[in-house]
Amino acid sequence: MQIPENKKLLSIVVPCFNEEEVISETFKRLNIFCQELKDLNFEIIFIDDGSKDKTRELLKKFAADDARVKVIFFARNFGHQIAVTAGIDAALGDAVVLIDADLQDPPEVVHQMIDKWRDGYDVVYGTRTERPGESAFKLATARSFYRLLNKLSDVPIPLDTGDFRLMSRSVVDTLRAMPERDRFVRGMVSWVGFKQTALPYKRAERFAGQSKYPLKKMLRFATDGVLSFSTKPLQMSVGVGMISAVIALMGIAYALFLRVFTSTWVEGWTALMIAVLFIGGVQLVCIGILGEYIGRIYNEIKNRPLYVVQEYVGFHENGPAISR
Ligand code: UDP
Ligand code: MG
Repeated sequence: MQIPENKKLLSIVVPCFNEEEVISETFKRLNIFCQELKDLNFEIIFIDDGSKDKTRELLKKFAADDARVKVIFFARNFGHQIAVTAGIDAALGDAVVLIDADLQDPPEVVHQMIDKWRDGYDVVYGTRTERPGESAFKLATARSFYRLLNKLSDVPIPLDTGDFRLMSRSVVDTLRAMPERDRFVRGMVSWVGFKQTALPYKRAERFAGQSKYPLKKMLRFATDGVLSFSTKPLQMSVGVGMISAVIALMGIAYALFLRVFTSTWVEGWTALMIAVLFIGGVQLVCIGILGEYIGRIYNEIKNRPLYVVQEYVGFHENGPAISR
């Protein structure tokens, strides 16, 4: 389809990982939403993050039926944040919307995002006022994570805000110039700056299927968030080291005092074990923190591509105009 010159282009980026149960409904809802866009052209970019179910075939069918649908097939599962990054890299739009494939982020809310974008905002991020259907554990951990992150991070990162957002071309271009490996996209967007605003919305329940964020991935994601946006854990380990050194000095002074000036002394095994285990524990934790940062340096330095694409479908000349 020929895109009229005068209309601006909206890119909708949808990361998908084993979403066969929801993806058809998502595509239907996105289509309804896009039909309502009177003065914008649109492209929908699905990223298949190494799905093992029927997601692949379904996405191929969508692309075959509609020239405005593009699909990036990853060679394996690279993770949600990398999938989003590939979408941002390939998007040609004047504005880019990131949206989950499970319909937890209602496409209809994007209309309000577009209005704010037209008012001159460069980033309109969705802030969750309610999250029905999530476990009490997820709600509690997410809540404390965003608050902790905000305390630690050098840039303010909005509370209770996921990746559901609209970004202008200027923000997208800046993000494309940020090659870091451990990607925490919502933090990176905050770091970029420009005019940003929140749009409160009610997060829906997952339409079907299971969450693709098991506890292990959630922990990894949270660690990435903290370590990519703060060096405070390092400063904290210096603090803990100092405190344990002071405790050690007091212990030494006490033990020496008893030995030199009194006729009793500190008994052997218990005191020894306390000292060894305490110092050992503190050291291991501090080395661990250091190790996490060094591991990240190691990953950066290898300079591998962020993701491997097995196939581009629906793009001109079999690939996006510009690729990383
Ligand atoms: N996702 C992905 N790769 C992954 C895990 C998730 O592309 O390794 C996608 C998933 O298909 C969905 C979005 O990321 O579109 C958010 O995942 P999910 O809904 O499972 O997370 P939750 O909402 O439970 O935090
Ligand atoms: Mg979800």
